[in-house]
Amino acid sequence: MVLIIGTGVGGSIIAMELAKSNIPVTIIEKGPSVDVKDSYKYYDKIDDCLDLSKTTCVGGSSVVAAGNGVRLLEEELKKYNVDISTELSEVEELIRVHQLDDSHFGEGTKKFMEAAKSIGLPVIKMPKFIREEDCIQCGKCAWGCPNDAKWTSKDFIKIAIENGAELISEAEVTDILTENKTVKGAKIKHSDDSTETIESDIVVLSAGAINSAIILQKLGLKAGENLFIDPFVTVGGVLKDINYNSEVTMNALIKGKNFVLAPHYSVIINQNMDDENIKKEDILSIMVKVPDDNHGKIVEGKVIKENTIKDIRFIAEGAATAGAVLVGAGVDPNTITSTHLRGAHPGGTAAIGDIVDNNLKTEYEGLYVSDASVIPEAPGAPPIIAILALSKRLSKHLINNLSN
Ligand SMILES: Cc1cc2nc3c(=O)[nH]c(=O)nc-3n(C[C@H](O)[C@H](O)[C@H](O)COP(=O)(O)OP(=O)(O)OC[C@H]3O[C@@H](n4cnc5c(N)ncnc54)[C@H](O)[C@@H]3O)c2cc1C
Repeated sequence: MVLIIGTGVGGSIIAMELAKSNIPVTIIEKGPSVDVKDSYKYYDKIDDCLDLSKTTCVGGSSVVAAGNGVRLLEEELKKYNVDISTELSEVEELIRVHQLDDSHFGEGTKKFMEAAKSIGLPVIKMPKFIREEDCIQCGKCAWGCPNDAKWTSKDFIKIAIENGAELISEAEVTDILTENKTVKGAKIKHSDDSTETIESDIVVLSAGAINSAIILQKLGLKAGENLFIDPFVTVGGVLKDINYNSEVTMNALIKGKNFVLAPHYSVIINQNMDDENIKKEDILSIMVKVPDDNHGKIVEGKVIKENTIKDIRFIAEGAATAGAVLVGAGVDPNTITSTHLRGAHPGGTAAIGDIVDNNLKTEYEGLYVSDASVIPEAPGAPPIIAILALSKRLSKHLINNLSN
């Protein structure tokens, strides 16, 4: 039996692929199984000094994702002797990544695209894994979609279960069990505080970049260093009655050299305006996201992340460009403000070439890591497609090994 820890992006596709190949699979998930529309209630508490968004529930952070399916890391990973070109294409087809129909572009996004073009910025429609026929254009993608209109890892977990996999939810893996540098299983703690040991000689750790690192550290591995988070701010101002807050989130993309920009509403913009008369419907805003230096680390379960001068410079370049786009779109320049720095793509804490080899195996026989932890460099862009591709590649490796 293969034991998979975590039902998020990395864990879900491996569970599905192995179960479809008739390999017995048990999946352990710390959080509960909830409707996608309720998943916003399962965001983790924000740390005092770092606003890092992630959720603990079946499906991991995919349930609150904006549905952006950007193909990335193809060339970068070749340096590490990892070629995911085939798997990227397979994944794009599997979750039907495509640019949405024109009917799903609202006034705010159109103004963003027109303004970008008018100042010579390359802008495209964002590749999405959202189904137009189910999308009610409410702007609540990152709250968990109220109409289940996007792919989430829950879809793959469902297929895994239909193919015989067992899911144990509300059970936290606290330790990986090993003997003579070989994995033997995992210790889990249930929500009623009872504990259990599950034996397995193949364990795939997919608990996300923070929690996988914490578990690996208990084995004495130097995981948890080199953390990146792809920091972002949302910059916005007043454009009366634009109603951008109820459009499909992040439906267009500008790829700059050191940043990406996408239209994005955050309630923090309203809070930072100190004027209660300004409504959510009056805000047009843009997310500025950058690839950060991977200088963060996890120490005694706490995330420590400082931004380097380069990170701040990239954010400043992106925010200045976002300001120009907003003004071009008709936003009142005197109203432009920004959120504080946040993050939603933690990764790098068990990187390929450092903690895992190019087959995602640790120095422990039978112990693999397959989630955002293994990404060696900050992408500065949505990583789900790359994580799915890396994990699909691992599932092929495991299926091949197990059938021999
Ligand atoms: C608001 C938001 C919007 C986003 N939008 C996009 C987007 O549009 N496109 C994109 O590409 N990326 C997006 N991302 C980022 C993306 O969701 C993450 O990069 C991705 O989910 C990371 O995958 P993962 O497998 O590393 O971890 P996760 O998907 O977070 O999965 C980890 C799983 O492990 C479970 N777990 C943790 N600890 C334990 C334990 N000890 N025992 C058992 N289970 C455990 C967790 O509950 C979780 O289910 C977004 C993120 C956020 C927060």
